[in-house]
Amino acid sequence: MTRPDPSTILERARSLQGQIISWRREIHQYPELGLETPKTAGLVARVLSALDIEVREKVGGWGVVGLLRGSRNGGAAQEDRDRSRGGPLGSEKPAERTIALRADMDALPVQEETGLPYASKIPGRMHACGHDGHVAMLLGAATLLSEMRDKFRGNVKFIFQPGEEGAGGARLMIEDGALENPKVDMILGAHLGVLWPIKSGQVGTRTGPTMAASDRFTITVHGKGGHGATPHLTVDPIVVASEIVLALQTIVSREVSPVAPAVLTVGVIEAGTANNVIPEDCVMKGTVRYLDKRLAEFIPRRIEEISMGIARAMRAEVEVDYRYGYPPVVNDPAVTEFLRKSAASIVGPENVVVLDEPTMGGEDMAYYLERVPGTFFAIGSGTPENGTAYPHHHPKFNIDEGVLHLGAAVFAEACLEFLCD
Ligand SMILES: [Zn+2]
Ligand SMILES: [Zn+2]
Repeated sequence: MTRPDPSTILERARSLQGQIISWRREIHQYPELGLETPKTAGLVARVLSALDIEVREKVGGWGVVGLLRGSRNGGAAQEDRDRSRGGPLGSEKPAERTIALRADMDALPVQEETGLPYASKIPGRMHACGHDGHVAMLLGAATLLSEMRDKFRGNVKFIFQPGEEGAGGARLMIEDGALENPKVDMILGAHLGVLWPIKSGQVGTRTGPTMAASDRFTITVHGKGGHGATPHLTVDPIVVASEIVLALQTIVSREVSPVAPAVLTVGVIEAGTANNVIPEDCVMKGTVRYLDKRLAEFIPRRIEEISMGIARAMRAEVEVDYRYGYPPVVNDPAVTEFLRKSAASIVGPENVVVLDEPTMGGEDMAYYLERVPGTFFAIGSGTPENGTAYPHHHPKFNIDEGVLHLGAAVFAEACLEFLCD
C-alpha cells in the first residue's frame, strides 16, 4: 500500500502555512484562561467539522475531541486481503489502531507587551506559553490527515484540552472518556518554545522522565502567642517554623538519592503582626518537584514526619496539607524512538535533538502518559533575531510561526507511519 511520502506531506504542510498561521493569530487575539475556553473550542470544532472529522464537544468541560477514521478499511484492496485470509469479511480484521494527538488551548493571566498587530485584545490575558500555536499545529495536522484518510486504516484522535496551566484539564478529559471509544493505543504531544535549548525548527526528544511532578504543601504551626519580652510564657511558632524549614531541606540533600532530581522549596512564610508580639500561628507554603514517581509517596511522608517531630519536640502543634499536582511526564522509549524517526523524515535527522536534561517544570500531558504509551516532545520556536527568544510566561513571549507547519507535518507523518502497514 502506497502512502504519501514525507516530502509530499511537508510540501502540502508548507502550502497550508498561511492558514495555520491565521488560526494561530485568531486564537492569539482572544486568549481564554483555565478551564473556560469556549471560544477557542468553538473555533476548533468548526474547523474539524468542516474537515468532515467527527467532533465531540464539551468533553471534560470545554474540551474537544475529533475522530478521523481512515477509510482504507472498506476499499477493494482491503476486501481482497480479507478474502485471502479465508475468513468472512470483518471477522478476522486485525483490531483497528488509534493514535491520539494532543494540544492544550489555555492562555495565562499576563498583560501582553509584544506590540504585535495581532496581540491579545483582552486586557490581562495572553497566550504567553505558545498553546495558541499548539492548537494551530494540530488543526494543520487534522487538515493534512483528513485529506489522506483513504491512505490509512484505523483512527486518529485529536484531543484539544483546556486548563493545562494548573487546572489539570487533561485529567478531566480522561475522566470524560477522551482516551476511550475507540481506545487510544499511542499518544503524542508537543510543546513549542524555548523550554529546552534547541534551535527554531528543531525537534527535541527525550526518553523516560522529561518533566517533573509539581506538588504543593501548606504547613501550619500552632504555637502560643504572647509578649515578645516573655518568650518563656509562649510557644513561638516562628522559631518552630524556622527549624522545620531547615530540616525539610535535608529530605532532598540527605534522604533522596543524589542522582534522583528533586526540589523542595518553601516559598511563603507568614506570621506575626508586630516586632514585640509572638504570634499564635505560622503558615508555610511550598512546592515539591521530582521525576521519580516513587518519591510521590516518600517526600510527603517525610515532610509530615519531620514537621510533626519538630513541633512535638518544641511543644507546638502542626498541620500538614499536601496536595498532589501533575505527575512527572514520562516518555515511553519505543514511542520516543518511533517519533524521532518520523520527525527526522520531516525536519532532517540533523534537526532531531536528544534533550540531555529534563526540566523541573510540570505539564499535565503526564496524565495521558500514565495511561497510554506516548511521548511529549519539544519543537523549538525561538530565535533572538526575530524577538521570539523570551522565556515562557513572559509578557513579550512569542513563537516563530515559521515552524508551525513543520509541527503539523511531523504529527501527520507519525500518524501515517503508525497507521499504514
Ligand atoms: Zn505554560
Ligand atoms: Zn505550556
